[in-house]
Amino acid sequence: MSIIHDPVTGEAITEVADTDPTSLDRMLDEARAAFPAWRRVPATERGALLRRCAGLMREHAEELAELEARNTGKPITHTRGEVERAALAFEYYGGWADKHVGATIPVPGEYHTYTVPEPHGVVAGVIPWNVPYVFAALKVAPALAFGNAIVLKPAPETPLSALRLAELVAEAGVPRGLVHVAVGGGEIGERLVGDPRVDLVVFTGSHETGRAVARTAAERLTPVALELGGKNPQLVFADADIDAAVDGIMLGAYSQCGQMCIAGTRILVEERVYRDVVERVRERVRALRVGDPREEGVNVGPQTTAAQRDKTMSMIESAQAEGVEVLAQAPVPDAPELAGGYFATPTAFVDAPVDSQIMQEEVFGPVLGLRSFRDEAEAVELANATSFGLAAGVWTGDVGRAHRVASEVDAGTVWINTYRVLSVLVPFGGFKLSGFGREGGQEAARLYTRIKSVWTSLDGGLPPGYRL
Ligand code: NAD
Repeated sequence: MSIIHDPVTGEAITEVADTDPTSLDRMLDEARAAFPAWRRVPATERGALLRRCAGLMREHAEELAELEARNTGKPITHTRGEVERAALAFEYYGGWADKHVGATIPVPGEYHTYTVPEPHGVVAGVIPWNVPYVFAALKVAPALAFGNAIVLKPAPETPLSALRLAELVAEAGVPRGLVHVAVGGGEIGERLVGDPRVDLVVFTGSHETGRAVARTAAERLTPVALELGGKNPQLVFADADIDAAVDGIMLGAYSQCGQMCIAGTRILVEERVYRDVVERVRERVRALRVGDPREEGVNVGPQTTAAQRDKTMSMIESAQAEGVEVLAQAPVPDAPELAGGYFATPTAFVDAPVDSQIMQEEVFGPVLGLRSFRDEAEAVELANATSFGLAAGVWTGDVGRAHRVASEVDAGTVWINTYRVLSVLVPFGGFKLSGFGREGGQEAARLYTRIKSVWTSLDGGLPPGYRL
């Protein structure tokens, strides 16, 4: 049994039965058995069914938003947006189902040659605890749209919305056996990823686990896509709208209590405006209100897990021990009813050396570091001085510089004069330690299918020069 906690109070809210190896076996058998009929369902029908799922998900939107808020400790205003994103994923990939087509290729000679995108078979989806419902939808929807079955493994701390999604999908009429949710930790995840009945692995999580997943998948050469962590720079040039940039810094680092792979926490600011930005960030961090996200005026909630809170606090302490200066912190709540909650102290470090741990390693909590740069060349150099490459923000009033820097920065997503905007229509994924493979947009259609090339001779002839 996994005990599920409310991160705001630390109290147990429910228990969920863990998936044991025998149940996982049954899920994989059922998925394999359901796949052949599903891949033959006309793509238009599969699409219509996905759109029906989206409708049902919207009918249950408030219930899901409340469930997700309770399990993750996020404000319901955030989870309402997430619930809509999840429904959109079903609607969007429902639309794609009959539009992802092959091509005829005009090869020389008397041949009719075409490609067909075919489903892989059974997908293993493994997701983290920070945005569980959205990640569940982003994996289940394209898997089904393009004719696959899926066994999804959410993080053990946050399985509730994925379990509910599987129920809704079944209620909408998706045939039995196609969607399963396996509950448990790394052990069951590893067993799933390494199983010979799995044809594609799509993983979202940390780079350490991503490496282990890639290793397990490599044993059977199962194709794998990895959406991993980030240590994302935000570059602020002196010609930027500084009010907007500071808003972007605060949103990028502290929303969702910093628990975002795309958190923009390496804040690089041009010397001329550095002190101004530093002062503004100091004021804004001090003014953050940490507490129960259900309370009016609270803008930073708890971390979703106790382990993450401990990791954040220990990284803050290590940075201080390393001699990095704290610019500002926001107090955590002292109300007795929140004493068991997983609250971490929002912190900003200033003049952080680029090679310090706090500027190099992902915290996944409400922590940023600021430092200055001289010119555009140094800005790009500092931005790229990280092993990660997930996202970056560029704040500037110069359109030429914006696109020059966007092209020079090693990151899978670059935001210019904005931050943290995402859409299922747009491909998303990382460079370097942030992983490989893309979800979102047409890229997901490519990821969840494999191309077959078919040659037909029009005159019964064999290739010239090879007759034996
Ligand atoms: P994690 O890597 O610890 O766990 C992710 C999932 O993998 C969980 O379901 C976990 O149970 C499972 N797992 C653990 N060991 C496994 C193994 N050996 N084989 C198979 N599965 C295994 O990550 P987390 O702490 O849940 O989430 C935080 C991390 O996720 C951060 O690094 C964050 O940046 C990253 N993340 C990336 C993206 C992205 O899209 N790039 C999005 C969100 C979060």
